[in-house]
Amino acid sequence: MAPRVPGVPRFAAAGARPELRMHRRALLLAALPLVAHAEAAYAGPLFDAHLHYNDDAQQPHPPADVLARMARCGVRGALVNSRPNDGTLRLVAEPGPAWVPFIRLYRNRADYGTWFADDSIRRMVLSMLDAGSPAGAFRGLGEFHLYDSAHADGPTAVALMKLARERELTVLAHVDDVAVDKLLGHAPGASLIWAHTGLSGEPTARVQALLQKHTGLKGELSYRPGLTQDGRLAADWRALLTRHADRFLVGSDTWVTQRWQHYEGLFADYRGWLGQLPADTAMRIAWGNAASLFGLPTPAAT
Ligand SMILES: [Zn+2]
Repeated sequence: MAPRVPGVPRFAAAGARPELRMHRRALLLAALPLVAHAEAAYAGPLFDAHLHYNDDAQQPHPPADVLARMARCGVRGALVNSRPNDGTLRLVAEPGPAWVPFIRLYRNRADYGTWFADDSIRRMVLSMLDAGSPAGAFRGLGEFHLYDSAHADGPTAVALMKLARERELTVLAHVDDVAVDKLLGHAPGASLIWAHTGLSGEPTARVQALLQKHTGLKGELSYRPGLTQDGRLAADWRALLTRHADRFLVGSDTWVTQRWQHYEGLFADYRGWLGQLPADTAMRIAWGNAASLFGLPTPAAT
């Protein structure tokens, strides 16, 4: 959105009166910071690090619709997971984008609240890892939720974190800061993408401390409270993203079907605030960090 400079047009034709010329100059000077904020949006490739293709989305948004939406907003690859997992198998069979298939831990909604202590989930994961996907081997586990951080110590949660480290899988975890610390404590060095990087608004100092403690931790930024205000990156977030440019990713989080209708708008918003970062930082967060993590080729220019 172009910055508005209130009052300037009103004085533009009033050059004859000195006091108004002064006033006009003051207004123009006051407007300079706004002009300096009008950076170009990020224009490079994007990776969607948090894409769900759940059962209820598939009829209104068949694969061709998903691919068209991704193409329209320059999303050239995606971390795909779904409830149940057949949605992932269906979507990643489509040629084109760089797919990164993940195994979701949920066969149905009831599993959200019990998976962390359910050994049948671990066995499902093992059989899916053996079977693979139309886009090749599964690369990770999740998105999973822990509504109580104590459940990060559940036997299946511990076993799957150790399995992830052994098999070089990444986990996508929608949890709080305490659970991030617990999960990575069970498998130090494992690769964990923190979905939303703290949906409860954990302070950036806490996020930074966790990034420094756990080298395998990355943050995905959908729905993150406090990241932007009126489209502007918050100062503490700008500093954190710039300092740890290799540790963040963006994602759509199409967790409900309605979110698909906003897919292009979400990435337009991301392009806006990515454009407020140094160009190399924006490129890493938009594409490069996922490419490094999952070994993706650089997409050809369109
Ligand atoms: Zn999600």
